[in-house]
Amino acid sequence: MKLSEVTLSHRYADMGDAFGRRINPTPFKHPQLIDINPAVLQLLGINAAEASNPDWAQLGCGAKLFHGSRPFAMKYTGHQFGVYNPDLGDGRALLLGEVEHQGKSWELHLKGAGQTPYSRFGDGRAVLRSTIREYLAGEALSGLGIRSTRALSIVGSDEPVTREQIEKGAMLIRVAESHVRFGHFEYLFYTKQLQAQQQLIGEICRRFLPDSQELSIGEQAEAMLRFTTRRSAELVAGWQAVGFAHGVLNTDNMSIIGDTFDYGPYAFLDDYDPTFICNHSDHTGRYAFEQQPGVVLWNLNALAHSLSGFVSVEALRDCLEQFQPQVTDAFAARMRAKLGLTTEEEGDQALCADLLQLLQQGEADYTLFFRALSRYRGERPAQGLQECLAEAQHSALEQWLGHYDRRLAREHSDSCARNRAMLATNPKYLLRNYLAQKVIETAETGDYQPLHTLRQLLQSPFDEHSQHEVWASAPPESGKRIPLSCSS
Ligand code: AMP
Ligand code: MG
Ligand code: MG
Repeated sequence: MKLSEVTLSHRYADMGDAFGRRINPTPFKHPQLIDINPAVLQLLGINAAEASNPDWAQLGCGAKLFHGSRPFAMKYTGHQFGVYNPDLGDGRALLLGEVEHQGKSWELHLKGAGQTPYSRFGDGRAVLRSTIREYLAGEALSGLGIRSTRALSIVGSDEPVTREQIEKGAMLIRVAESHVRFGHFEYLFYTKQLQAQQQLIGEICRRFLPDSQELSIGEQAEAMLRFTTRRSAELVAGWQAVGFAHGVLNTDNMSIIGDTFDYGPYAFLDDYDPTFICNHSDHTGRYAFEQQPGVVLWNLNALAHSLSGFVSVEALRDCLEQFQPQVTDAFAARMRAKLGLTTEEEGDQALCADLLQLLQQGEADYTLFFRALSRYRGERPAQGLQECLAEAQHSALEQWLGHYDRRLAREHSDSCARNRAMLATNPKYLLRNYLAQKVIETAETGDYQPLHTLRQLLQSPFDEHSQHEVWASAPPESGKRIPLSCSS
């Protein structure tokens, strides 16, 4: 379809005032298109040639609206660091409407679009730095086969935005099948709007659980919780397998359809350290890397509690009990693939745990180690692997490889096929913080070429791209553990 043919519908906003407020964006005066994402154009069914349409700068900052768009700020609440906050909602983003394509419906959400009734003391803006981080992260996780919101465009401006220092403002069109968060259900529960909650449960079921149409509201609410639990379990298992730390797993940042949602001070691990905390204001490590499965379960508990007007405590508990085994199974499946194992054996979990311990002790770069392992053919010394670990760990590596060799022998697979499969599972390119930082610093000077390059690499992270080798390097010491704040 041509850009001029895109027409938005509004299933969400049409539900009424209980769900938010109709409000127009506050556009930039001098918008500049920074990037348009061809992969998302394709998702939406918009012709690739439209990437060069001059209208994007206006559309991407709300100066011009898509046909039929009726921007809407969504109301939600949520638990932030374990404490209930009743005053949340779209404080700087607006739902523009939905695009239907090939049986899927994609919501467009303009982030950084100015103040709304839910802005509290905020300016309604987003800075270029955080916009680039969100844009790249959506591509990075999608590229690794993990559910995530994505973004269609970044539009920049010369408008100053004050954070710890003065930065440039930017806007992002975020794209997802749903922007409904756990916090939407918490809001309707704590304000005793059960009729509206019933409406929202019905809407989620209509869109994502078509077989639940004939069910009672209680059964629908339970089916939705089972769906969200399973999706969340798969999601967090994916994060743990690729080394992604979200950073702020509040219930308002949890998507009801299990997308990675709302990127703040996230980080991909460089050296493997399960205790890693990416958000430097997370003093207790509530959202440390290894805490993520437990915290997602905590969040699912909050969601379940908010559904207690429709579902019995026994049924809620039963849904939540599925979570831990689902995470364990999904994580084991991902790790088997990373190890090149196609069959399942009882000892696989221990083999994997031993390796992770070795990587932690050897301060190994998580991604580089698995990429090197993808080329392993039983050679001694296993030089490519040794190079990833501190020397003190070389004999432990030797021992682990002995177990691994015996395990591989029972696979009866040929090493060529195994190497090929592992190279398509263990990425070469990763959205490392020092790379994001480099791209941001260059973009702040007005040069967006590195941003385009990194976006493309993250969209096919398993390919060699040999002309872009430098983007595959581990960070220099100074590029590790760059402190990240919530300011965005
Ligand atoms: P977050 O920390 O991104 O999950 O946001 C928490 C809440 O603060 C949400 O209700 C946001 O909409 C709101 N918020 C964050 N930044 C701003 C801002 N600059 N202006 C207005 N509201 C904001
Ligand atoms: Mg948020
Ligand atoms: Mg945010």
